[in-house]
Amino acid sequence: MATIVLDPGHGGHDPGAVNGSRMEKNDNLRLGLALRNRLQQLGQNVVMTRDSDVFVSLADRSLVSNQNNADLFVSLHRNAFTNAQANGIETIVSTTPSQVERDNAQLVQHAMVNVAAQSDRGVKPMNFAVLRNTLAPAMMTELGFISNTRDNQLFDQHFNAYVNAIADAIMTIVRPAPPTPAPPPVPRPPTVFDRIVAAIQNTLNSLFRQNLRVDGVYGPQTQQALVDSLQAELTKPQGEPNHSNYLIWALQYANGHCTNAPQSIPVEPPHYPNQLSLHLEITVNGRPYEVAPTPVPITPVVDVC
Ligand SMILES: [Zn+2]
Repeated sequence: MATIVLDPGHGGHDPGAVNGSRMEKNDNLRLGLALRNRLQQLGQNVVMTRDSDVFVSLADRSLVSNQNNADLFVSLHRNAFTNAQANGIETIVSTTPSQVERDNAQLVQHAMVNVAAQSDRGVKPMNFAVLRNTLAPAMMTELGFISNTRDNQLFDQHFNAYVNAIADAIMTIVRPAPPTPAPPPVPRPPTVFDRIVAAIQNTLNSLFRQNLRVDGVYGPQTQQALVDSLQAELTKPQGEPNHSNYLIWALQYANGHCTNAPQSIPVEPPHYPNQLSLHLEITVNGRPYEVAPTPVPITPVVDVC
């Protein structure tokens, strides 16, 4: 939650710019109060330099911001000129704005201009006390000319849209930037072990009707498939092709790469001696890499990771 100080310009005996019975201080306060409500709805902490028709000195306005350790200071004004044709929206920053202040002001300026396609007078540096003496990033909005009839009509007709647009821009400013996503992990090239495990998985799928994902990862599923297949082979009737040697070799080979301490699980002893063995053929760096299983004595216990 950010602390935003809203500063409705003028007030009390200082009406600001005047056009007939219309006084800038009232437009500023109306905008400020509506903006406060909207930003509070959006979960922000809003502090007003004034929330009624009272005079507040320029020094006190900056003081409110500085004492509240504000994250953003927005002074709300309307423009005026002797030529009633002058119109449009501008946002003021100090004469020595930081890049953040320029960016913030540009965001709010665009947001306001876009509401009713009003003429864009841009972001301008000017020497104003409230911008100079405020520690927080500061800006002053000039939401149309009170001396221009059409600008006043737009201000009244699109009042809620202006409030929402400015609030949205402020939310963009005070919302912390999303954390930069961590770069995707660089896939490590498959090792010989990965390729052999992938070959084992292929064999388990084709010869033993397992349904393993061939990813070269020797995980619990591949291990369980090896144990299940071995158990099935060991209890096969005599005379059928039997691949127990291969499976025992595969288990021993894979478990030789265990990072966890292997544990022993019992398997049923073979019903018949196994005569058959398989050769495991894989390719490493484009060259055939052949692993011939060595006959191993079949024991009733198999180590797994
Ligand atoms: Zn003013």
